[in-house]
Amino acid sequence: MAIKSFEELDLESRRTFVRVDFNVPLAGGKIEDDTRIRAALPTIQRCIERGARVVLASHLGRPNGKPSPKESLEPVGLRLAELLDRDVLLPDDCVGDGAKKVVFDLRDGDVCLLENLRFHPGEEANDDAFARALAVHAEVYVNDAFGAAHRAHASVVGVPKLIKEKGAGLLMFKELEFLGKLQDAPEKPFVAIIGGAKVSDKIGVLEELLKRVDALLVGGAMANTFLHARGYALGTSRIEADRAPLARSLMAKAEEAGVDLLLPTDVVVARSLDAKSGEVVPVTAVPADEMVLDIGPATLNGFRDRLLRAKTIFWNGPMGVFENEAFAAGTLGLARAVAEVSALSVVGGGDSAAAVAKSGVAARISHVSTGGGASLEFMEGRTLPGVAALEE
Ligand code: ADP
Ligand code: MG
Repeated sequence: MAIKSFEELDLESRRTFVRVDFNVPLAGGKIEDDTRIRAALPTIQRCIERGARVVLASHLGRPNGKPSPKESLEPVGLRLAELLDRDVLLPDDCVGDGAKKVVFDLRDGDVCLLENLRFHPGEEANDDAFARALAVHAEVYVNDAFGAAHRAHASVVGVPKLIKEKGAGLLMFKELEFLGKLQDAPEKPFVAIIGGAKVSDKIGVLEELLKRVDALLVGGAMANTFLHARGYALGTSRIEADRAPLARSLMAKAEEAGVDLLLPTDVVVARSLDAKSGEVVPVTAVPADEMVLDIGPATLNGFRDRLLRAKTIFWNGPMGVFENEAFAAGTLGLARAVAEVSALSVVGGGDSAAAVAKSGVAARISHVSTGGGASLEFMEGRTLPGVAALEE
């Protein structure tokens, strides 16, 4: 069944409950990065333009079902008011009489932000009574929180079950459009790049990608486990030795399916994660007391060559410890290579998105997903509960 865009819904003078992802990093009550607030602005502004009575709802942090001042959405509300240049009402709870009074007094174009949904255990438990208490606020339901769509929580699945008029916000719609293109008949050659911390985090994605890609480029600590499975000695590198059989079976599947699986041929090594610099060596010559922390220049070149012919690219997982400048060259170089190619390019994953932001070429990539876990579950071919809830 098709999901409606919120543009197809009648919003005027109606209490429009918009699930957003305002789970921003806070330090001492200060917002460290307001990207997620800015990302929701187009949907909120459009709701205001259309005369909706806007009721925003989000979680923040992990307050474990109890009110906690440290995780209040108040600073987010204040920042949002600045960005919108209008008042944002801030009831001190998300359900109950106080919140209801604020919501039912809204006039057309007014905006309120409910307090942190996770102050109630019913949010994560998807409790029926809690969903009903939230749904009191809503005549129309809009989900613009792709990053939360893989969680079957009350505001993500419980509330839309109770509301007939529902649809996806702009951000959610864009995510489904781009990730959907990778699922249904992507233009070939389709090249996927997978890296990051662990093979075990991404088994489902690797299996799924092997069914549809022409080439799989593997880097990061993930590649260490594959190289180890091939018998290379990698010193003190981060390796999941217990996953060697899995890596072997994935390599066999790639061969059967005619998928080119590329592993690093040279790497950057050093004594520790916080070393000031590293040294480039072939994968056959990693010193016993050093660890692999990035892909080397020859590997980057090889990966780049394979990307230049691609028509569709999916990338998840950094090529090295990019948080340390000494080991960021592989990841940032790869970001530039992806940006260079005239292909449909999609990046998923929290750390990968941060790396692309750092590279300065994000604007030349077709789509950088805002949902870390959600984009991976989508690529595994799983139905996201929050997406399914919009289809009913
Ligand atoms: P994403 O969030 O994009 O899905 P992951 O969480 O899987 O990515 O992986 C990101 C982490 O992997 C980063 O913190 C990075 O430092 C780490 N990493 C990448 N390569 C290595 C390596 N060779 N050794 C240790 N850690 C690595
Ligand atoms: Mg991560």
